[in-house]
Amino acid sequence: MTSERSKSLYEKSSALLPGGVSSPVRAFKPYPRFIKSGKGSRIIDVDDNEYIDYCMAFGPLILGHSNDVISSAVAEQLSKGTLFGAPSELEIEFAESVCRHFPSIEMLRPVSTGTEATMHAIRLARGYTGKKKIIKMEGGFHGAHDSVLVKAGSGALTHSVPNSAGIPEESTRNTILVPFNDLNAIEEAFKSNRGEIAAVITEPVMGNTGPILPKKDYLKGLREVTITNDSLLIFDEVITGFRLSLGGAQEYYNVKPDITTLGKIIGGGLPIGVFGASSEIMSSISPVGPVYQAGTFAGNPLSMSAGIAAIKCLEKINYSDLNSLGELMRTSLDKVASELNIPHVVQGIGSMFQIFLTSKPVENYADALTCDSAGFMKLFQGLLDEGIYVPPSQYETSFVSTAHTSSDISRTADAFFKVMSEVLR
Ligand code: PMP
Repeated sequence: MTSERSKSLYEKSSALLPGGVSSPVRAFKPYPRFIKSGKGSRIIDVDDNEYIDYCMAFGPLILGHSNDVISSAVAEQLSKGTLFGAPSELEIEFAESVCRHFPSIEMLRPVSTGTEATMHAIRLARGYTGKKKIIKMEGGFHGAHDSVLVKAGSGALTHSVPNSAGIPEESTRNTILVPFNDLNAIEEAFKSNRGEIAAVITEPVMGNTGPILPKKDYLKGLREVTITNDSLLIFDEVITGFRLSLGGAQEYYNVKPDITTLGKIIGGGLPIGVFGASSEIMSSISPVGPVYQAGTFAGNPLSMSAGIAAIKCLEKINYSDLNSLGELMRTSLDKVASELNIPHVVQGIGSMFQIFLTSKPVENYADALTCDSAGFMKLFQGLLDEGIYVPPSQYETSFVSTAHTSSDISRTADAFFKVMSEVLR
């Protein structure tokens, strides 16, 4: 497989964009592949190599690349205008589409990214409760803003900057870290900061250290402890919303948070974020209440129309088919690595999966750090040569979409077998 054109574009882009990329999670050595198109489960790079894609843009593309229904909705809106700086009816339809599936969200505000969604959700929690501190999980990733870039997952972990330079210590002083899946640690944190915790923010299924599932009753425990301490529970469902089920992880696990953040899938591939809650909590948001939040591109017609179209499509799919495909992938990878006697744990849920190169279940950030992440990068490189594109890090989640097929998965399992036997034994 040649990648000469990607290589030369990388040389050019490195002079213009730090690391040659617009977001660090896309970078890998010796150079990333530059993608020119995508359709269904496939992407094609500038050297005309085709890959079965499991990165799926890090989550938004649950309906595959270049979905026809979404593309037509966007094209139609494009001809009517892309931005008005005034309300449009699309925002109402979009909000209805989301609220219909998330009973915990009576009102919402659309923003342009998941980062903004969690930033404003935290400000809202602080404004509403009048308390300063937040509790965050080690390895949790909620976007790249100051108060949550502490022991962060995703690219921050991959590139070894879980605590970013440039963030004053004052900005993270009110962020308390606890390990995921440890209710005692949360209770301790509440005890030692009595009356000061505005909210606990967590991904209900961690996705940015690879997929880590909540232990039985852990999310319910978080719900109880936050209620007892008069503090809010924020579920960051930027990955899990409309993925685990239409109503996200909160429906799947039957735990109702106070504030929810959404993103990725609900933009149908266009920039999006949402934070939402009960009408009472949302009434704290400007212009009704004192918590300020604003955005030029918030609720923009293109993202709204793509999001509405995506949700309409998702209302028609059978999630159990999609989730079975995820299960097929997980069992196939487990079989391959077991046959080759390679220490591994395959984790995930629904359409999320990852193979961790470690021998014990990954239940939190510390467990994730036991993985052979260098070995994973060898696996990643080998898979690329076999036409399989997974996210370039041990600490990310791979996704199947409704566009993937069981034959994609069997081809992928064969590729894992070949590459694992060559580079990991
Ligand atoms: N929260 C979670 C759980 C995420 O996975 C991400 C992005 N990977 C974000 C927030 C930030 O979203 P965005 O990249 O759209 O800013």
